Amino acid sequence: MGSAGEFEKGRRAVGRTLRLRAPAKVNLHLEVLRQRHDGYHDIETILQAVRIFDRVAVTLVEQYPGGEPRIELAVSGSGDVPKGAANLCWQAARHFCRETGSSGRLAIDLTKNIPVAAGLGGGSSDAAAVLKACNDLFGTKLDDAELEHLAAPLGADVPFFVRGGTAMGRGIGTELTSLPRISRCQFLIVKPAMHLKTQDVYGDLKMGLTVNSAKANIGVVGPLLTRFPQRSWPGFNRLEEVVLPSQPAIQRLVHRLRELAPIAMLSGSGAAAYAAFAVDDDLSEVVAEFAEAGLYVEVVGPHPSGVELEVGSS
Ligand code: ATP
Repeated sequence: MGSAGEFEKGRRAVGRTLRLRAPAKVNLHLEVLRQRHDGYHDIETILQAVRIFDRVAVTLVEQYPGGEPRIELAVSGSGDVPKGAANLCWQAARHFCRETGSSGRLAIDLTKNIPVAAGLGGGSSDAAAVLKACNDLFGTKLDDAELEHLAAPLGADVPFFVRGGTAMGRGIGTELTSLPRISRCQFLIVKPAMHLKTQDVYGDLKMGLTVNSAKANIGVVGPLLTRFPQRSWPGFNRLEEVVLPSQPAIQRLVHRLRELAPIAMLSGSGAAAYAAFAVDDDLSEVVAEFAEAGLYVEVVGPHPSGVELEVGSS
């Protein structure tokens, strides 16, 4: 432990800001394999980053040689997210500092665009953006594999957003393998005005001793992804078994999406669902249909990477 004098000596005004964009994700496949003793579930999932972005600006106002960081968080944009220490941005900043021995005064400015508690991974992506920004601002120089490792305790989807693109997730979703990228596809993402808590959805699964087998063989899935969504796709979302019967609005939505496209399912634990279309399909009429019914609707392409610096931010 250094004395107060040494602490003062080690302070350094920095004032540098990094601006990142944090993409959403959809699950192209989600099988729940088994319930674990720690309450989590082992899953097999295929994650796809998509081009709906939260904006995250992180300023390192002052760097300290140690001690707890001071974190200020400002939140704007759509959706109701926690403003203080419960926000995943805040937690990511503190986690980064504790794990790397860095400290300082950080100002985080979060602009939400990704619908909240929708199964689109917004909070996890924001957390990954903060980790990436801190790594740069503190000059920690962790590589992406180290950042993914650091990200896992913050949430099962956080490592994916460090990597992005298209990836298989195993274990609780944090053991990632990159897959061939999808390029010629557009996703129609629709969400009714309701929030579902991931924990509650998994809790309602009541798997007991049920053990499902892994179904996604990378050797089979890889070639299918290169043609996605042109060929039949074996992916499904096991969580539909609990969400659809208990949420009629989501059930109606998923059924309607399946009338429109062969690949359509709930994303993560919902409440958002999506349908995949060829890149040149005209979706203006279906977008109008959902918008007129008062649902959130976006048409977005796949994003080939994860969280990334905004152009011109350095
Ligand atoms: P997951 O499947 O990881 O639970 P999700 O995609 O369904 O996530 P998120 O939008 O990430 O949903 O929100 C999950 C919960 O996390 C919400 O209850 C929200 O209040 C909380 N949360 C904390 N920080 C954030 C953040 N920066 N953005 C969104 N939600 C946040």
